[in-house]
This record gives sequence, structure tokens and C-alpha cells, in this order.
Amino acid sequence: MKKTLLAAALLGFGTMTIQAIAADGELNLYSARHYQTDEALYSNFTKQTGIKINRIEAKEDELLERIRNEGANSPADVFITVDASRLAKADELGIFAPVKSKILEARIPAHLRADNWYAYSTRARVIVYNKESVKAEDVQTYESLAGPALKGKVCSRSGSHPYNISLGAALIKHNGAEATETWAKNVVANFARAPKGGDTDQIKAVAAGECGVTIANTYYLARLMNSDKAEDKAVMAKVGTVWPNQKSWGTHINVSGAGMLKNAPNKGAAVKFLEYLASDEAQAYFANGNNEWPVVGSVKVSNPALDTLGKFKADALPVGELASTAAEAQKIYDRAGFR
Ligand code: FE
Repeated sequence: MKKTLLAAALLGFGTMTIQAIAADGELNLYSARHYQTDEALYSNFTKQTGIKINRIEAKEDELLERIRNEGANSPADVFITVDASRLAKADELGIFAPVKSKILEARIPAHLRADNWYAYSTRARVIVYNKESVKAEDVQTYESLAGPALKGKVCSRSGSHPYNISLGAALIKHNGAEATETWAKNVVANFARAPKGGDTDQIKAVAAGECGVTIANTYYLARLMNSDKAEDKAVMAKVGTVWPNQKSWGTHINVSGAGMLKNAPNKGAAVKFLEYLASDEAQAYFANGNNEWPVVGSVKVSNPALDTLGKFKADALPVGELASTAAEAQKIYDRAGFR
């Protein structure tokens, strides 16, 4: 089958090769997620169903471009990626088809499903502060990052990164567009430096005292906490973590998710795979592979870093709804100079 897919790639996915792909029980998975534990995740599916998985891994935008170029002849059955605003963007391109499944509806909470895709793991966007230069009580909310007490102390990755766009989209939902714009302007006014790097770079800058506070996804913290490297341990010794907005709407969460493609040649296999991802076994692999939480509440993961982070009140806003304010969040960030 790998040969067929390769041949299909070489032929630009002509119709004849597509029929060959469609004829057998295989699944073509386009994935923007690549973790080592995913190997076990996929081989278990094959063991259970006999359906072989052909994986195409690339960056999010490349995969979307490819799916669009392939059009009706696309061999892609399922698309997996991270971040609600990215999933929403894929959905806006019209590439997904809705999947009705009693299993998925029963296992995945309603606020972690959208019309055309399902979330399979969650991560939280938390506040990380330098324990020497910032007091925990001063950074209990996202809103507090805009306060005058944090002048010259805030570090952030780019405002156009999907993680920050999704956070902005949630802020608009809870506080309104006007308040979010004021917030963004004041956060920018508090920057210690112009945005650069990823979440881990911000955490390290906070530990080094270059900044006092930042926001980061929990799995980056978990990665540092689970690390054996002395330098990572030193970073974690310097910083404190806050679950933001525990007294109001809760901590903003984001997701990894997947959907079936409209032109999927193996729709039966695609539905089976989406249902499999919500099984106890798959949930544990899926979430643990990137130090995230399973969406199925009854699934237990043993991850020391996540245990250390503890329990928190998560934002109950449906992740599918973030799409409706994501574009506005980007415009607000642009006007605020949060680039
Ligand atoms: Fe990430």
C-alpha cells in the first residue's frame, strides 16, 4: 500500500490510483502531530481493526495546502492537528465532513466537539512567573497581565501564533472586543521585549529574570518538569505556575483534534479511527504523548508532571466557538501592536 500511495504521490493522485487506495481497508492519515507514542497509538488501531494506516506527516499549512490542491482526488481520510483556531481554519476551508457517531457523542464532552471535528486532548494556557521578581497574587488572571504593576515584565511569543489567537478569541467571548483591545494594548505596553521564540523560550526567559511573567501551554512546563537535564530543573526551580481566572471563567484550554475529510476515499475506516481515538487505550496514548489531558473523563493517565500541576477549573466555553472570534482577535492584536 505504501507503494500505491507513493505512486499516487508521483502521479499527482490521478483517479486510477485513488480507486486502488479506496478499494482496500486502509486509512490515509494526514497528521500535523508527531510524537513518539503515536507509533503505539497507530499500531494498536491496526491490531484491533486490521486497517493499515498510511501516514503523511507535515506542517499544518503544508497539509492544508496539499488537501486543497488534491481536491476531490485527495486520498486523505483524516486530518489531525493541534489548536482550536487551526482546526477552525481547516473547517472554514470546507475540507471536513461531519461524522455522526453515538460513540463519539457519548465519550467526548459537548464543549470539546465542533460540528465537523472532535477534540481528543486538552492543554491549558497558564501564567508562569519568576518567584523572585513577581508575586503570585499579582498574576492570578489573564487580565492582570495588563496591569501597571507588571510594566516591563511581560514576555510573550508572537501575537499571531494560534495559541495566543485562541486565547484572544476566548477573552473576546468573556470580556467583549473593546475590553480585549484595551487589554492587548496594555499587555504590549508591559512587554519586557518584543515577542520572539516559542513558549519554552518565554519560560526560560522568565527563569533567567529577563522577564517577570509569561503565558505558556502546560505541556511545555510538563516537558521541563519531566526532564532529567540539570538546566531544565534549574529553570523549573525559578518559576511558579498560576491557573489563571479560577475565580471567574476558568483557565483557557486548547485542544488537539481531528476530523474526517469530505473527499475521504475510506470513510468507514475514517469513522472507525475517530471512534478508536476516543477509546480508553488510545486516549491514554494520545494525551500522554504530549503531556496533555484526555478528553474522555473516565480515562486515567499517570503522568507525574501533570499530577504535580494538579487540578484546575477549565473554561467551559465550547472550543468550536473560538472560531467565531479568532479573526477579530488577530485584528485586535494587530491594532495593539502585538505582533
Ligand atoms: Fe505547542
